[in-house]
Amino acid sequence: MGVSLPRKELFDLPEGVIYLDGNSLGVLPKSVPERLAQVTRDEWGKELIRGWNTAKWMDQPARVGDKLGRLIGAPQGSVMIGDTLTIKVFQGLAASLQMRPDRKVILSDTGNFPTDLYMAEGLIDTIGKGHALQLAKPEAVLDAIDDSVAVVMLTQVDYRTGRMHDMAAITRRAHKVGAVMLWDLAHSAGALEVDIAGSNCEFAVGCTYKYLNGGPGAPAFIYVRPDLIGTIKPTLAGWLGHDAPFAFETGYRPAPSIGRMRVGTPPVLQTSALEAALDVWEGVDMADLRAASVALCEVFIKQVGARCPSLTLASPRDAAQRGSQVSFAFPDGYAVMAALIERGVIGDFRAPDIMRFGFTPLYIDRNDVIAAVDILADIMDRKTWKDPKYHVKQAVT
Ligand SMILES: *Cc1c(COP(=O)(O)O)cnc(C)c1O
Repeated sequence: MGVSLPRKELFDLPEGVIYLDGNSLGVLPKSVPERLAQVTRDEWGKELIRGWNTAKWMDQPARVGDKLGRLIGAPQGSVMIGDTLTIKVFQGLAASLQMRPDRKVILSDTGNFPTDLYMAEGLIDTIGKGHALQLAKPEAVLDAIDDSVAVVMLTQVDYRTGRMHDMAAITRRAHKVGAVMLWDLAHSAGALEVDIAGSNCEFAVGCTYKYLNGGPGAPAFIYVRPDLIGTIKPTLAGWLGHDAPFAFETGYRPAPSIGRMRVGTPPVLQTSALEAALDVWEGVDMADLRAASVALCEVFIKQVGARCPSLTLASPRDAAQRGSQVSFAFPDGYAVMAALIERGVIGDFRAPDIMRFGFTPLYIDRNDVIAAVDILADIMDRKTWKDPKYHVKQAVT
């Protein structure tokens, strides 16, 4: 039996805010400031350089990787924390291409997050062997997987629409034609049940500042299927991925473990925040979390559908094909979102016309959802969003 949800008492939620943006930046868990103060004051302040040993900073990325692994169905010793997701995409992609030297196609979809695609372009140019990035429409990607494909690189949940790929089915198809599978779990980890080991994919990557509440700039993670770990020749051959970093050899020899996916010095403060933030998952059954997420999304879709007829649902109506976010399209969505934020309902906006609302059952309940819809309906009914002040564009949307 899992714990009951939500667990709002574990989070520092500001008064008067209904936070529907945990898909973009998760809320601060209450344990984090104290832990950060302790690491700063007692570990960095008093231990200084000794902290790498005495406070176990050097082991932290693997330790936190294991802690996170439970939430995505990854076995111990298969997940490493570090760098940014953008870097982890590059690492996973480079390792995938090495595994299929006679194939030249990276297959992705048009719904993928731009940085994933940009990194593929950059890697292709760096390798300089005539690889190509092919993009299919999300609904056509399964059929586009053929035996020319070296690696299928997809983000499971679309950042704009919340549309969710069938991880098991796509991975099966990739393997059937001999392609490698790389999943980006940016909008999956901490949002839904993920069975990485069961999917049998070779690689998975994701970030920790969205549903995992690691804080702005929190480090990313990479998963490598255990049977492959010893075979990968890291493209980003950093000293901390070396088998013996403190031997300071002139030649690179990768660590025999998932440690080879490390690059350079880990961000200890940020990883400490993440380590503490992951405590909020203790005892949480991911099936219960998913059920609660689906229930919240259903209430939101039904209520907005009934009360805000000018908004168009941009997410799949079928919960089984949706992650933990709901998007509505509206030509002046930017202004509507600005008006919502002013009234304490925080979601976000993605060009050209998508208003995104993330649902995080650890700290959002049904009453929050209904209160948010009340405010949205009021803004739509009274056309408050027409005020020019809501149309001024900020740098980050
Ligand atoms: C959020 C997100 C990113 C962000 O990458 P960073 O390196 O953390 O900036 C990348 N890919 C996907 C699919 C995302 O959703």
